[in-house]
Amino acid sequence: MKYVFGPISSKRLGQSLGVDLLPPKSCTWNCLYCQLGKTRKFVMERQEFFPREEILEEIRQALIVHTGLDWITFVGSGETMLYKGIGWLIAEVKKLTATPVAVITNGSLFYLPEVRRELLQADAVLPSLNAGTEALHVQIDRPAEGLTFRRHIEGLVAFRSEYKGRLWIEVMLLGGVNDSDEALRDLAAVLKEINPDMVHLVLPSRPAPEQEILLPSDERIERAIAILSEVATVVHPLKGNMDLRSATDLLEALTAIISRHPVQQRELHKAVADCFPGDSEKTDDAMQEMLATGRFKLVEHGGEPYWVMKS
Ligand code: SF4
Repeated sequence: MKYVFGPISSKRLGQSLGVDLLPPKSCTWNCLYCQLGKTRKFVMERQEFFPREEILEEIRQALIVHTGLDWITFVGSGETMLYKGIGWLIAEVKKLTATPVAVITNGSLFYLPEVRRELLQADAVLPSLNAGTEALHVQIDRPAEGLTFRRHIEGLVAFRSEYKGRLWIEVMLLGGVNDSDEALRDLAAVLKEINPDMVHLVLPSRPAPEQEILLPSDERIERAIAILSEVATVVHPLKGNMDLRSATDLLEALTAIISRHPVQQRELHKAVADCFPGDSEKTDDAMQEMLATGRFKLVEHGGEPYWVMKS
């Protein structure tokens, strides 16, 4: 499949079928921690990068194969809201299934009324907010020219006032960057303005190709929860895990996931083992065969091996 991947299992969204609407990498930001590597050229113009009917047809096919989904999640190789027509896709998916639709976005284009309008039918929207000041916004998110911190906050505030679904703000907590008490208090102040339903703390638990990113300490994570909880319900950062059991072609399913983000070897081994219950030999053979294709390579992050695509 070209656009649909997964389902991926995570504690936040349960069994989630991913839909990627973008050619890699199309983004308005160039985040320090991005798992897709450096943004070589900012994309600012919204486009229908691929025919919407083609994407919808893939979703329709995937819904026949994958039952018991908790979410259909639009997320992908860059900033999701660059896809012009996502509102049409959300509306059409909702005609196909009662499974709720989530959109993961950096939120940088929410200052545009047409972008906010396209999201009104989503059941949950998860925009990013990693900084409480312009300086940290520039340091962490490294946005395209014109995408100022104030514009980002105003877009989120405007969206909150129009949107009746669940607004879950994602905060990426980076060790030594935005985990000080001062940075967290600044963040809490803008979260108060936005008034989200929840804040999801997320951690840089996968390698970023561009530079080494540090995990915050347990003490800083607890502190972040304490400070941000003063203004919103905070969901503790948890690592997701994969479920490949319904994959018809293990190698293709895995390629679709790893081309979008690195996967911890331990997590991968568990997901493959779940496909061959009680048969560790088959699990090891499948892992070896996939590595032998030459599509993947192993890199280390925080002392853990990860699978990434060979460039
Ligand atoms: S918004 Fe997402 S895709 Fe874009 S640079 Fe940041 S992490 Fe990467």
